[in-house]
Amino acid sequence: MTHQRCPNCFREEKGGSVLQAGGGRRPVVVAELAAWRVFYAAMQGQTGPVTVPCVACGLPMVQLDGQGDSHFWPIATAAGTVVPGHPTVTPEGSMPLERANQWMEDKFSKIPATPRQSHLGALWFVYLLVPTFLWLSAVFFLLLLLFVAVGANFMDDVIDFPFRAVMGVGALALGLALFQATRKR
Ligand SMILES: [Zn+2]
Repeated sequence: MTHQRCPNCFREEKGGSVLQAGGGRRPVVVAELAAWRVFYAAMQGQTGPVTVPCVACGLPMVQLDGQGDSHFWPIATAAGTVVPGHPTVTPEGSMPLERANQWMEDKFSKIPATPRQSHLGALWFVYLLVPTFLWLSAVFFLLLLLFVAVGANFMDDVIDFPFRAVMGVGALALGLALFQATRKR
């Protein structure tokens, strides 16, 4: 029964069951270096063998029980493909493990990890919606106040339709203008 864990997002599986879903935590370095560090630690014997890519984050998972063979796979980096092993094949040629590790660290440790897109996207969506929602609420309450103050009959007979049409178009135009303004910021 394989017991494996993702050192990056902490997903944990035992046999067929998921002990921890993981997926929320992102590595502080770019994915190619995060993957390499897992491979490198396993090759150094610091962890159990590497098993499969993590379902939640795609980075390598490590076996917590038993002693099997590691299953490494090529890492697609911004500089080209790196094939982990003894020796490791880098875009700049075949290198002994230690040198390949130095090469990976030199190339990728200073690049900041990409921010979480989904989180930023959600924030941005709220940021756009709030002013539009506030404005539409204000229009709604103003209309309600007018209906109560002037009387529904008068509104129905005389100015109901044009009033609603003008307010409707105005609300739409202002909503769009607000949307454009917040988008350009
Ligand atoms: Zn993971």
